[in-house]
Amino acid sequence: MVAEVSPAEAVNQFFDDAAEIIRLKDEFHEVLKTSYREISVQVPVRMDDGSERVFRGYRVQHNGARGPYKGGVRYHPQADLNEVRALAALMTWKCALLDLPFGGAKGGVMVDPLVMSQRELESLTRRYTLGISYVLGVNRDVPAPDVNTNAQTMAWIMDAYSSRYGYTPAIVTGKPIDLGGAPGREQATGRGVVYALQEAAEHWGLDLSTMRVAIQGFGNVGSWAARDLAAAGVPVVAVSDVHGGVFSDRGLDVIELADAVASGRSVPDAVDQRHADRVTNEELVECDCDVLIPAALGDVFHAGNADRVRASVVVEAANHPTTPEADRIFTERGVKVIPDILANAGGVTGSYFEWAQNIQQFRWKEERFNEELRERMSTAFRRTALFADDRGVTLRRAGFALGIEAVARAARLRGYV
Ligand code: NAD
Repeated sequence: MVAEVSPAEAVNQFFDDAAEIIRLKDEFHEVLKTSYREISVQVPVRMDDGSERVFRGYRVQHNGARGPYKGGVRYHPQADLNEVRALAALMTWKCALLDLPFGGAKGGVMVDPLVMSQRELESLTRRYTLGISYVLGVNRDVPAPDVNTNAQTMAWIMDAYSSRYGYTPAIVTGKPIDLGGAPGREQATGRGVVYALQEAAEHWGLDLSTMRVAIQGFGNVGSWAARDLAAAGVPVVAVSDVHGGVFSDRGLDVIELADAVASGRSVPDAVDQRHADRVTNEELVECDCDVLIPAALGDVFHAGNADRVRASVVVEAANHPTTPEADRIFTERGVKVIPDILANAGGVTGSYFEWAQNIQQFRWKEERFNEELRERMSTAFRRTALFADDRGVTLRRAGFALGIEAVARAARLRGYV
């Protein structure tokens, strides 16, 4: 992996590219390119062996002009302040592009959760929550799951917050259904990726049933996208997780694979070697496929591999998987990219439904939740594609431009600028 610029610089390069198209006034740049608030907290944890370890946790609130801050919490050794800052900014543009009443935020703890016990993770989550609780609130900042966090993590955050401020289910989204979670939220990001791809295929005149898909990352987002693609009759030929990947020209049984991974197996271990070839994550990115879905970490496509990507369509389920240099190479080569702020926006859209459910004390029916999700993803795709076609720019530039315009209008009205 070769990162040419830091994640925060990359997001701001995309910002500058888009700001140029809409001729954004100079006075907005400083306000919209920096975070409103960044907090860094100590997270001490008593480990199972009796030792005490201190981890570093962050919560970055990028811009709240359009509503309460919203964004996931990531547990990863590389979740440093720069990465969290970049992810928070992406949330601002994503929420604005989808016209959700939220600003953008992100949280992260620099930790390798894969080597920790459940008890250690619970303790870490509670300490992190109390550390940042002063800047959270149902109308201030509402966390959600991201890499290596899930519904159980959200339940611990909700409990830790509620023990200090009183019962507050709307303080997090992506919770278990038993605690006020919305049926459909867990699937919403992966499902939204598929809705966006289907809308794109219609727009570009592509027949998805003849296109072979490869997915990097088989966690929440990757596995649900795979399940929905399979249900729609779209062949998935390769998938991977942190342990490596598998490729089969004939297509994989992703439902069986997702069930095996959900029960704790790794992707390479869950597939019979007679039915698929083992591939590394680097090989998967360059494999023979038509649609490539990064659904793991950032900076996957860079100057060193973008010209070797064989897919003609890239759907960014992961956040910031493409460096600005790789983005330029994709544009030159005519690779169509559905950018992260559009492709994976089903997650925060589902979170919005859940938050609305909690504050209004009602419960969504799953079919209604999915219909509404599809409608919002399709509308956002069409709006972005219309802008892109009209101005002759990529979907990324169009998506950023539309998001920035909406936030700039709100910032002006509220008197930030
Ligand atoms: P997850 O923790 O459930 O899954 C991550 C997957 O990536 C796992 O299969 C893991 O093994 C794999 N992985 C980790 N490191 C890897 C590496 N170095 N190489 C290859 N694979 C690796 O996380 P998730 O919630 O599915 O998030 C995946 C991506 O989607 C992230 O970029 C996240 O920001 C983005 N996203 C998530 C949501 C959401 O609702 N969860 C919403 C929007 C965007």
